[in-house]
Amino acid sequence: MKLVLLGTTGYHPNDQRQTACFMLPEQGIVLDAGTAMYRVRDLLVTGQLDIFLTHAHLDHIVGLTYLFDVIHGKQVERVTVHGAADKLAAIREHLFAEPIFPVQPPCDFRPFDGDVPLGGGGRLSYFPLLHPGGTLGFRLDWPGHSLAYVTDTVARPGADYIDHIRGVDLLVHECYFPDSLREMAEKTGHSWTTPVAELARAADVGRLILVHVNPIATEADPLGLPGARAIFPRTDIGYDRMVVEF
Ligand SMILES: [Zn+2]
Ligand SMILES: [Zn+2]
Repeated sequence: MKLVLLGTTGYHPNDQRQTACFMLPEQGIVLDAGTAMYRVRDLLVTGQLDIFLTHAHLDHIVGLTYLFDVIHGKQVERVTVHGAADKLAAIREHLFAEPIFPVQPPCDFRPFDGDVPLGGGGRLSYFPLLHPGGTLGFRLDWPGHSLAYVTDTVARPGADYIDHIRGVDLLVHECYFPDSLREMAEKTGHSWTTPVAELARAADVGRLILVHVNPIATEADPLGLPGARAIFPRTDIGYDRMVVEF
């Protein structure tokens, strides 16, 4: 299976990275709708699009306002936005308030009500994470393939959500800060390098990709990759348009 990392930063885009958006093009699945959402158009080949939102912070939802262009001229019969009921209500009330965005988006909103069945015999499950306002981690399973997407939370090797991500083929986990900015990470509800790598090792995942990287840290290795690999060797820093097979 194929995951395309369309947006690998948080908060705001920079010249290299757009904000959170990940796509499984063959399945018509998108995880989060940050500023990279416009790139979904390039990869959209399915007749339906399911967008799963972790939470309603702007860097994960602003791309919902791009949907008219994303599906323009495409044969898309259905666009469904899935998320926690309170977050979807906030999006409809605020992001799509008439003074902010004057037309209703071309999609349905479907609040989470248990696991979501996916095409190809898959399913998506979700679990709570610690972050201001609350957020959800996702696990997607198909026969022989599994993926977990965990963003906007403070990682620890003994995190409550470890059982939900245990043994996945691919863990896409946020890592906004290097170890030197640990205090800032704790204050803002984000992760720093060492605990993410320790968590990946403890959860026995196949591969770890770090995303939601601080947009003002534009050096080649903003997270201390050798340190992460010393703990969990199969670690990489994600970049926009990176294609990951799992
Ligand atoms: Zn974020
Ligand atoms: Zn957030």
